[in-house]
Amino acid sequence: MRVSRLLTKTLREVPSEAETVSHHYLLRSGMVHQIAAGVYAYLPLGWKVLRKIENIIREELDSAGAQEIMMPVLQPLELWEKTQRHHAFGKALFTLTDRRDRTLCLGPTHEEVVTELVRHQVRSYRDLPLLIYQLQTKFRDEPRPRAGLMRVREFTMMDLYSFDTNEEALDISYQKMRKAYRNIYERCGLPTLEVEADSGAIGGKDSHEFMVITDTGEDEVIRCTTCEYAANVEKAESIKPAGERRSLEPVEEVATPGMKSIEEVADFLQVPRNRTMKAVFYSADGNLVFAAIRGDLDVNEIKLKNALKCTELQLASEQQVRLAGLVAGSASPVGLTGVKVVADDSITLGTNFVAGANRPDRHLLNVNYPRDFKVDIMQDIAATRAGYACPRCGHVLTSTRGVEVGHIFKLGTLFSNTLGAFFLDNEGRQQPIVMGCYGIGVGRLMAAAIEQNHDDQGIIWPAPLAPYQVYLCGIGMDKTEVATAADSLYEDLRANGVEVLYDDRAESPGIKFNDADLLGIPLRVVISPRTLKQQGAEVKRRNSKESQIMPLDDLIRQLKSWS
Ligand code: ATP
Ligand code: MG
Repeated sequence: MRVSRLLTKTLREVPSEAETVSHHYLLRSGMVHQIAAGVYAYLPLGWKVLRKIENIIREELDSAGAQEIMMPVLQPLELWEKTQRHHAFGKALFTLTDRRDRTLCLGPTHEEVVTELVRHQVRSYRDLPLLIYQLQTKFRDEPRPRAGLMRVREFTMMDLYSFDTNEEALDISYQKMRKAYRNIYERCGLPTLEVEADSGAIGGKDSHEFMVITDTGEDEVIRCTTCEYAANVEKAESIKPAGERRSLEPVEEVATPGMKSIEEVADFLQVPRNRTMKAVFYSADGNLVFAAIRGDLDVNEIKLKNALKCTELQLASEQQVRLAGLVAGSASPVGLTGVKVVADDSITLGTNFVAGANRPDRHLLNVNYPRDFKVDIMQDIAATRAGYACPRCGHVLTSTRGVEVGHIFKLGTLFSNTLGAFFLDNEGRQQPIVMGCYGIGVGRLMAAAIEQNHDDQGIIWPAPLAPYQVYLCGIGMDKTEVATAADSLYEDLRANGVEVLYDDRAESPGIKFNDADLLGIPLRVVISPRTLKQQGAEVKRRNSKESQIMPLDDLIRQLKSWS
């Protein structure tokens, strides 16, 4: 491709809306163009990168035995009503009405459709296992589209679904996909960290995310400084520091005038925070829930949501709390009735806690579970933070940020049972198909690659993702000898299958070199009167300052061995 003919121009100015490095460089290099909030057009260079990623994904999945299909974007809402997932997606689901007044949605994912499809294809255990995937546009009306391609409302996803006869077979498919994912990211030149992920209210099933570690990542990852443990903060566990254990004292009520927060109460009564019990009120699908946790810890709302198996969880309103007769600032599960209590297991680590007296300005001393109160659910609902102890080895945990570029998930029989995808086992009994799902955000991966590979001048594409391998610059194109040599090198490179972007413009060396750096093409080849004097071209890698003159008559062979 000749730069003079390229649809896009690079921008000198920093686009003001750019939130992150990848957003900034994607816009400035002209790889993408924003059409609406979270809606982008891919331009020639960006589209090439996207297709390179797609091809790597295809090759790896095909070689793992997966079959590519193409499912419709347009999906009947009835399918979603059957699984009730239109509730889970809520406003993120784009819906529309057709001329016959039927409601359709634009697929945010394809579990429903693929299950419906496979239901009609699979008869017996002999038809399984199956790995089915597509590279397809997804639509999600995200509340906050952000950071260029990181979180958009229309995006290409690779979504794969596995179908097996039982859990053991699912595990084999799952491990196969894990391996394929590792190969994909490795071939993209993108180091990723595999972390344990939340598997939602379905619970209990394996789920892993693949994270590209970068400061601008939206996700927080908790990892051990010593062992391999790594988890999304949504799911991360820790060994909770033990509290003091003493013999149980009788409950005593004390006055705590004006003391509401844990800090105020702990300071006033001169007890450490880990000897207090904190009360947090939530509204779970409209019902008031009382969460009790040790005062030095915080509630992880995702864990709480999973414990409650609810779809909507938010902090309860003041009014909701008041109507339930609860006293904010002095509430505790002691003597409480009519409200569901979920407790973090930390309230069993320690004795003689300070808790609210359910009366204004009063607290109780020496509250102990289960002597003094009951709970409906007791499990880990605590947020894990850096500095806590690793649940596996006890060493200290740290926190980093990451971009979720892929997610693999054991679904089990949830969709097959609901949508009727069964098979006959070898004894002729009808069984639900056991499923897994696997997704990669292709555009997000492209953005994450830039977050990880750039400098102050621009993008430094890992070679397998670069739109072109060589940026050929003619310097002094007004001189016939340069133009002729550069033109003929361009033709030679193309004839030899080298992907080359040819800067044939009559621009200054400064402008050309800046563009070469901004676009991040792995090799820059310069033809100028100076190089021609040596019958050569100057070759420089994007990620190095060193350059060298290579003889023109051997250039193609040498370039191929360089890239
Ligand atoms: P997130 O937690 O970031 O919203 P998700 O868990 O909802 O993502 P999945 O349903 O697991 O996403 O989708 C599979 C992959 O698709 C994700 O790992 C991510 O790479 C990509 N993806 C999801 N939502 C978006 C989006 N709005 N924009 C770009 N890529 C996305
Ligand atoms: Mg996910």
